[in-house]
Amino acid sequence: MRIELVIPALSLALVSACAEIPDASNDLSDDMLTRAERLEQLLSILASDSMQGRKTGTPGSTKAALFLANELERYGLDPAGDNGFFQNVPLARIQVDGPNGPRERLMLPSASLDFDELPVENIIENEVNVVALIPGSDPSVSNEAVVIGAHYDHVGIGPPIEGDSIYNGADDDGSGTVAILEIARDLVRNEQPRRTVVILLSTAEEMGLLGTHWYIENPVFPLEQTVADFQIEMIGRPDSLAGGFGRGWLTGFERTTMGEQLVNRGSPIVPDPRPDQNFFFRSDNIAFARIGIPAHTLSSYNLHDDYHRPSDEVQYVDFDHMAAIVEAAVEAVRILANGPKPNWVEGGMEGLTGNTP
Ligand SMILES: [Zn+2]
Repeated sequence: MRIELVIPALSLALVSACAEIPDASNDLSDDMLTRAERLEQLLSILASDSMQGRKTGTPGSTKAALFLANELERYGLDPAGDNGFFQNVPLARIQVDGPNGPRERLMLPSASLDFDELPVENIIENEVNVVALIPGSDPSVSNEAVVIGAHYDHVGIGPPIEGDSIYNGADDDGSGTVAILEIARDLVRNEQPRRTVVILLSTAEEMGLLGTHWYIENPVFPLEQTVADFQIEMIGRPDSLAGGFGRGWLTGFERTTMGEQLVNRGSPIVPDPRPDQNFFFRSDNIAFARIGIPAHTLSSYNLHDDYHRPSDEVQYVDFDHMAAIVEAAVEAVRILANGPKPNWVEGGMEGLTGNTP
């Protein structure tokens, strides 16, 4: 669909007063829905045209963050940001030289980039990670955490293809984002995990994993006590190379004991069938892996043609498949939060220092 309206920028200070926040709780009770129905309800909101493709630094991204925080609050999670569920991510637009002339890049503050010296119009307001926490139940390991996450940002509005200019990102990574919501909901409603679980819905993954880099600089739980990172990306469609319906693959499977640990407990997860695509290095997990935390991404991306196109729409998502993967992911998070912590295998950190492939 074409763009019909532009939503004004929402101030995070107005969260509670804001009538623009979509809410998936209008039905009598989402307990009465199946997992597949709940996922469809959530994704239909997150990947709707009104979210304008959730590009970092746009009102659509802010609106998505408000929706996600609202859901986590509704499920009864503890906020872990610096403003409720929001962890402010300071970003600025910087002109850099590229092969085709100057182009704009989003950047975090750093030793060489002092935001106080930038013109105010370069600073992006209201960009956040959405962060929550489930305290561990077992005092002997509750000082350890498992981070579970997905990136909620996408690429926004772009060149129209067949008359549609909104890049909805239903699969990338609306699917992973609503999967994390559903896992969080499941964890708080059922037996409390032994280790602490941190929920990290990150922004600006498409801009260079900036939300996750900021989280790593400003963790809400000590990184030394973070024993694993489990990300979910693009699980909206089955992948025949992973075994089809209800099955997923784990990036960098052979690098740590995580994959084997999950498979031994019956998880329908296989090694990434396309290692030549370097997916292990192409999502938020890699930022955690580079600092030594066993970190992987669960996916069933089948290299479909709608990747980063306006046609990555909810209508092409197979919610029964997705619900089956989420079922496996809930179980995987419980295994990681309750069982032995995963370790790197010998040689598993190959390629993690120095240049990215
Ligand atoms: Zn993605």
